[in-house]
Amino acid sequence: MGKKTGFLEYTRQDDPQRHPLTRLKDYDVFHLSLDEAQRRRQGARCMNCGVPFCLSAIKIKGRVTGCPLHNLIPEWNDEIYRGQDRNALERLLKTNPFPEWTGRVCPALCEKACLCGLNGEAVTIRDNERFIIETAFAKGYMQPQVPAVRSSKRVAVIGSGPAGLSVAYALNACGHQVTVYEQEKRAGGLLRYGIPEMKLAKNIIDRRLEIMKAEGIQIMTGTKVGRDISQSELDAAYDAIVFCCGARKARQVAGVDLAVSGVMMAVDFLTAAMHDLEENKCPVQAKNKRVIVVGGGDTGNDCVAMCLRMGAKQVTQLEMMPRPSNQTKTPWPEWPVGEKVDYGQQEYRSLYHHDPRLYETTIEKLVVEERMLKGAYLVRGNMINGQWQVKAGSEQFLEADLILIAAGFVGVEDSLAEQFALPLSRHHTLLTNEAHYQIVQSHYFAAGDCHRGQSLVVWAIAEGLACAKEVDNYLKNKK
Ligand SMILES: Cc1cc2nc3c(=O)[nH]c(=O)nc-3n(C[C@H](O)[C@H](O)[C@H](O)COP(=O)(O)OP(=O)(O)OC[C@H]3O[C@@H](n4cnc5c(N)ncnc54)[C@H](O)[C@@H]3O)c2cc1C
Ligand code: SF4
Repeated sequence: MGKKTGFLEYTRQDDPQRHPLTRLKDYDVFHLSLDEAQRRRQGARCMNCGVPFCLSAIKIKGRVTGCPLHNLIPEWNDEIYRGQDRNALERLLKTNPFPEWTGRVCPALCEKACLCGLNGEAVTIRDNERFIIETAFAKGYMQPQVPAVRSSKRVAVIGSGPAGLSVAYALNACGHQVTVYEQEKRAGGLLRYGIPEMKLAKNIIDRRLEIMKAEGIQIMTGTKVGRDISQSELDAAYDAIVFCCGARKARQVAGVDLAVSGVMMAVDFLTAAMHDLEENKCPVQAKNKRVIVVGGGDTGNDCVAMCLRMGAKQVTQLEMMPRPSNQTKTPWPEWPVGEKVDYGQQEYRSLYHHDPRLYETTIEKLVVEERMLKGAYLVRGNMINGQWQVKAGSEQFLEADLILIAAGFVGVEDSLAEQFALPLSRHHTLLTNEAHYQIVQSHYFAAGDCHRGQSLVVWAIAEGLACAKEVDNYLKNKK
C-alpha cells in the first residue's frame, strides 16, 4: 500500500469529459484525462483491503459486482502511486489482455464493490486502468510478444470481437497457430461496429490488431464462415474451432414491421454509421428526421447520441419499465439501482433541458402511407404479474421519420448454428458442456456473447481467456 492515508487525504476525481454541447459537433472521443500528478493521487486512494471485493466478481441478487477478470486492482493502484508504470502494466496484463478497451467502455463492475464506496466514493479504477495501458503505449512498453516455440496445432476462431480476439491472443501465446475469420471488412466485432467512435476510437483497436498480427495471429477479414469457407474445409484444416460469433439476433417489437421504409434495427443503424465514418463520410441517416428509439438501455443511448450528432430534428426514447427511483440507496457492494444518465442522455439534456426518455411507454402500431413511415401510436402501461399491460385511453400519436429498435437481443443468429448443426440452449445461445466451453463431444468450442448471451466486453474477454485454457488442454491431449 503506497500511501496509508491516501483515502483520507484525496477525494475521487473522475477523468474530465468534453462539454456535451461541444462534443455534439463531432464524433470524437468525449473522455479527456487527468494530469499525471492527479492520476497518481487517485492510485493512492486505494486502501489495499484485506479482502478486495473489487476483484471478486461475486453474484448478489442475480447481478455480478467486482471485476470478472479478477484484475489485481490494489496491486496496480499501488504501482501507479509509486510511479512504477512498468510494474503496473505487468500486473494488469496478467489478467486482462486488452485494458485499453475495458478502460474505456467497461461499466466498471469493480467500482461498485470498492470498499471506499462504502463510506464515500469508490476509487477511479477504470480510469486508472486506462492510464496504465496508455502510459505503456506512450512509453513504448507494448511490443509484440512472439511465442518462442510453436506447436503443430491449428485453431480457427470465428468472429473477431473481444471474445474471439481474447481466444486468439491466449492460444497464440501458448504457441498454437491461430486464424481468426471475420465477415466484416475490419476486425473488432461490436467494439468496431456497435460501440460508437466517441466512446471508443477505432484507432485504439487498430493499434492492438497490429501487435496481434506481429505476434503471429492471422486475421482473415471479409470472410464469412458458411459462405466463403465451408464447415468441411474448416474441419479438415483445423484441430479445434472456436465460435465467437456474437449474439446479434435482435428482439422484435410487437406492432413494428421492419419491412417499412424508415424502420431499422439499432445495431444496423450504428453499424452503418460506423462504416460511414470509416470511409470518412459523415453519417447522415437521421439528419432532419424525427426519430423514435425503442429501448431505454445502453444501445438506445448510443442511438440517441448518434442521432443528435447527425442533426436529427427530434429524438424520443421509449422505455417500458418505470423510471427507477434514486431515493433508495443500494447496500454496498450490491450493484446500485437508480436512474442512469448515460452520455447520450446527458447530451440531450444539455440541448433540450429535459430527458429524452418516456418511461412505461412503447409502440402500439406504426402509421404508414405507401410503405413510408409517418409515425406511431404510443401507449403507456406497466407490469402486472410479469405481463406488461396497456393503460386504457393512453394511446397517443407521435410523428416520426425513423424508428430504431433497441429492445435487446435474443441469442445467436440462425445461419451459422444451422449450418454447423450446433446445439442451442433455451436462451438461443450455443450449448456447451455444463460450466465449460466445449460443444459436447466435438472439436468445437464457444465463448463470448454467442455462449452467454448479449453481455459486456469484460465478460467476452473473461470467457475468451477461460475458453482458450480449455482448448489448450484439449489440444495437449489430442493425439
Ligand atoms: C450498440 C452496442 C453498444 C455496446 N456498448 C457496450 C459498452 O459500452 N460496454 C460494454 O462492456 N459492452 C457493450 N456492448 C456489448 C459488447 O459489445 C458485447 O458484449 C461484446 O462485443 C461481445 O463480444 P463477442 O466477441 O462475443 O461478440 P461480437 O463483438 O458481437 O463479435 C462477433 C463477431 O463475429 C462475427 N461473425 C459472426 N458470424 C460470422 C461468420 N459466419 N463468419 C465470420 N464472422 C462472423 C461478427 O461479424 C462479429 O464481428 C455493446 C453492445 C452493443 C450492441
Ligand atoms: S475490466 Fe472493468 S470491472 Fe475489471 S477492473 Fe477494469 S473497469 Fe473494473
